[in-house]
Amino acid sequence: MCAQICVSICESTSVKAAEAVARAAEWADLVEIRADFIRDLDLDLLFRNKPAPVIFTLRSRQEGGAYLGSELQRLETILQAAQRGADYVDVEFSAFWRIVLKRVPCEQVILSCHNFEETPRNLDGLLDDMASSGAGILKIAVRARGLADNLRIAELLHRARGQGQKLCALAMGCEGLPSRILGSSWGSWMTFASLPGGEAAADGQLPADVLARQYRVREITPETLFYGVLGKPLAHSLSPRIHNAAFAARGMNAILLPLEAADFDDFLRFHAELPLQGVAVTIPYKGAAHAFAQSVSVAAEQTGAVNTLLRKKDLWHGENTDVEGFLCPLKRRAHPGKMRAIVLGAGGAARAVIHALCTEGAHVCVVARDDGKGRDLAAKFGAEHAAWSRIDSLRWDLLVNATPVGMYPETDRSPVPASCLTGEWVYDLVYNPAETRLLQDAARRGCKTIAGSEMFLGQAWKQQCLWCGSPPPEEVMEAALKAALTQKDLGEDVP
Ligand code: NAP
Repeated sequence: MCAQICVSICESTSVKAAEAVARAAEWADLVEIRADFIRDLDLDLLFRNKPAPVIFTLRSRQEGGAYLGSELQRLETILQAAQRGADYVDVEFSAFWRIVLKRVPCEQVILSCHNFEETPRNLDGLLDDMASSGAGILKIAVRARGLADNLRIAELLHRARGQGQKLCALAMGCEGLPSRILGSSWGSWMTFASLPGGEAAADGQLPADVLARQYRVREITPETLFYGVLGKPLAHSLSPRIHNAAFAARGMNAILLPLEAADFDDFLRFHAELPLQGVAVTIPYKGAAHAFAQSVSVAAEQTGAVNTLLRKKDLWHGENTDVEGFLCPLKRRAHPGKMRAIVLGAGGAARAVIHALCTEGAHVCVVARDDGKGRDLAAKFGAEHAAWSRIDSLRWDLLVNATPVGMYPETDRSPVPASCLTGEWVYDLVYNPAETRLLQDAARRGCKTIAGSEMFLGQAWKQQCLWCGSPPPEEVMEAALKAALTQKDLGEDVP
């Protein structure tokens, strides 16, 4: 079934909404006008130049919308909209749906049910109750609390399909993103999207261009191969952008899904029903992925962290591409084996960096705000350690920031004062923003700098090599990352 993308328009005036409807034409098979956000509702203006079929929605505050008028006025407006040009009217299952169904042809009515708290147990019963209303199209939107809730949406859509019932079903929230991307391939009548650059009407709603171009929802077939990026939280992950750009450029029928799992078991339940070819693993699941993998690489073993899972027949193999991703940009410019290096931080990324530098023969000193953690980590790799308070007295050739200090939104912070930047090279693992405060200070002090985006790209490039058995087009991945990092509102963005 080819995905129908419905772009939701949330604007405050009729003129702005009409303009947004026209702009949505580029992406939309359907347009939903969220009339509850419009202060000066003008139905004629809204329906005058529809570029696509329009759904008219007027949700009250009680239903999670913004409409403040009386219920009588609301009903009247919905009925008028149905007569004056709306192709569909949306009415909540708890409201005056019976009256609407008496006055509006059933094929024009979308009967909706929202649950903003959870995915309720008895979805089948809900579907049956709603189906008995006689409405032409049903919509069930629930809140996902884990990846497994997506599977329940898939089952529900399968059931509705078997009954010949048109149903749009989805799970809200970041955990529910697979249902928005794969919903149509599971039989959903449409999938909702926001207007690119506009407001999202619901938690987890993706911009239409992201659904169409990045996730290629209209091209998903039964043969499509699925990969995932697993983590929590995942809202700002850039992995889907660069991997999906690479799959598209390779001409592969494959997509990488954002998988925000409640815990590792939740991921395993999801994977059991929707087999994945490979997984990029991020915080906090790198340790769990290491324990799960049936075999691991030396780098993964040494760091105790797996950031890449790949299937080898029915077995999972774990790799750590952070190690190579970190080293490549450095080795292109210098000889790390001769360096005295300071590594700030004692978390997962620091482990990969310390392992990489020690393997190259560098002289490594670990500096962590938790002195005990720094000492333990240094001992594991045969490195030195120093107290954080001593940073300004240390001599170094390379300083690596493996803490999140300076990452969006706290972009004006640096892990160390500029006066400490007395060495030759400064490498910041933070990649959002592309040029951190630390790197700016370092450049001003005459240090040479390496940005975390290079490591990010390097580790993702290696993941593609492992998954596909051949190198991906590096320039395509680089362009996708650059585009994402230069996007002004990156902090608000969803994958
Ligand atoms: P992590 O496992 O959570 O470790 C973070 C480390 O930073 C811990 O040692 C933590 O100390 C320390 N830390 C946190 N806040 C600090 C502060 N205000 N001052 C001093 N130290 C602080 O995270 P991670 O996976 O290692 O990631 C660290 C950073 O590297 C993140 O920004 C991540 O995005 C980035 N990274 C980038 C790439 C890339 O490809 N460029 C790859 C991996 C990671 P405590 O243990 O005391 O909390």
